Amino acid sequence: MNNAKTTPVKISDVVLRDGHQSLIATRMRTEDMLPICAKLDAIGFHALEVWGGATFDACVRFLKEDPWERLTSLREALPNTPLQMLLRGQNLLGYRHYADDVVERFVARAADNGVDIFRVFDALNDLRNLETAMKAVKASGKHAQGTICYTVSPVHTLETYLEQARRLVDMGADSIAIKDMAGLLTPYATSELVAGLVEAVEVPVHLHAHATAGLASLCQLKAVEAGCRHIDTCNSAFANGTSHPSTEAMVAAFQGTPYDTGLDLVALKEIGDYFREVRKKYAAFESEYTREDVSVQIWQVPGGMMSNLANQMKEQNALGRIMDVFDEIPRVRADLGYPPLVTPTSQIVGTQAAMNVLTGERYKSITNEVKRYLLGGYGQPPAAVDEEVRRKAIGSEPVDEGRPADQLQPEMARLETEIGELAESEEDVLTFAMFPDLGRDFLKGRRDGTLVPEAIPAPSSGGGERPVSEGVPTEFVIDVHGESYEVQITGVGSGSGSKRRVYLTLDGMPEEVVFEAKNEFVQEGKSAGRAKASAPGHVTTSMPGNIVDVLVAEGDSVEAGQAVLITEAMKMETEVQSRIQGTVKAVHVAKGDRVTPGEVLVEIE
Ligand code: MN
Repeated sequence: MNNAKTTPVKISDVVLRDGHQSLIATRMRTEDMLPICAKLDAIGFHALEVWGGATFDACVRFLKEDPWERLTSLREALPNTPLQMLLRGQNLLGYRHYADDVVERFVARAADNGVDIFRVFDALNDLRNLETAMKAVKASGKHAQGTICYTVSPVHTLETYLEQARRLVDMGADSIAIKDMAGLLTPYATSELVAGLVEAVEVPVHLHAHATAGLASLCQLKAVEAGCRHIDTCNSAFANGTSHPSTEAMVAAFQGTPYDTGLDLVALKEIGDYFREVRKKYAAFESEYTREDVSVQIWQVPGGMMSNLANQMKEQNALGRIMDVFDEIPRVRADLGYPPLVTPTSQIVGTQAAMNVLTGERYKSITNEVKRYLLGGYGQPPAAVDEEVRRKAIGSEPVDEGRPADQLQPEMARLETEIGELAESEEDVLTFAMFPDLGRDFLKGRRDGTLVPEAIPAPSSGGGERPVSEGVPTEFVIDVHGESYEVQITGVGSGSGSKRRVYLTLDGMPEEVVFEAKNEFVQEGKSAGRAKASAPGHVTTSMPGNIVDVLVAEGDSVEAGQAVLITEAMKMETEVQSRIQGTVKAVHVAKGDRVTPGEVLVEIE
């Protein structure tokens, strides 16, 4: 085509954030980003996405890097390219709603440290949860991108999305992003949605579509034909599967057309060569669940959520009932008013669906998060919730229909006092605000000079001396897509030299792998040694998880039905109650312990 008037497509590359988050559990280190920054900076991307909830979390939790330092060093290394971050509205990068003063300070510090474009979203598309963040972005003089979390349900229509986009523009949005986190979009649905949005709002429309079902590049093509000029892609070394369409492929697709991006394919290929080498280093974090999988088009359940659930069911020796859970998910989602399935609603719905199946009775056991959700703690569900389920979960407790953050008092001053001199800056206070326990440990470790990044398991290179324990599986937890997977390793004895052949079992699929034996990689399970529950006074759990809180001590009197423990599985908290009235005779768990179903955790007589 030789049209004189061209309207180039602008590319935002997500290799430094969503690419490695989607494919190698968010483990890429700053040291592997900086060497390629000069080449990335020369490309002429619309933006590079560099920061978000999972990257912040992984920096503090696993890599022992200060996430703020990552941002400032990328800012320095990428002077010519706008930097973008993903912000969960009032949740910022944490897992709860923050008071407005924390949101304002967080946005201001992120802007000062180098973020140019803030993509702001809320899991429920409740725009009240975006208000403060959007205002703060505007106040900082940066680009506020309002986000539509795309989902499919009887109450999500083209018109609801167009209305949401108009309201976002009214709130000051400089652009609108369609966020298809699960890979639900199809090419023709994209055409319709984009054409509607381009008509409805004056600001640019961006498309962020995961390639999970293998459809995203087709969706982008149709989006561009329908008037979208901004697409998110990922360097080919970290593209496709649960990540995004390849930057190089999309650039090539539009070459010589009116949509030509003008980007240099040869330079992009060199960047790909670099990242392909980087990816090898993180091979231990690769998972079969990041491959293309059309399931989301069948069950509307995101891939990461499916594997997570499969793991839960396997631990319950109930993998055979996984299809029951997939059938139950749409029912729970309907009961809860059709929330889009994205962090944290994907976990809320998934865990409740698993519990409904495993306990043999729907809503016999209800997680604290479902209760909080039904009390209005996350905002307004897209549609009315099921009245009977609500009554079962929260009885006659009043539902808060206001903006959740209106219940919160300013909290920066309290956070500053609580973290004290461990914080050397406001950024440190905000790190602590995002992750109270983890953040404090991180800041303490930094002060004491004891921060050590997790070891990167080497799949096939020599070195270490200590053998992996044989026979008994050892467990560790990896995070993919912000969701935790428990992986078991069983040593199978001899390897040559320091290399060990082991079976790595993820979601019931043992795979033989060879890697360097290192004890840092293998953490001993802590759950062994507890007796099996056999009496009514033996408090146990129905789901494997961690102890978040122990609410009673030896000698305490408890009522039947009183909560004695809070456990957490898949980031969901559940109260565990005593079945009988009596006195606490023994407590066999402490905060942080790993527990499995059937163990005696508390004894009551
Ligand atoms: Mn994404």
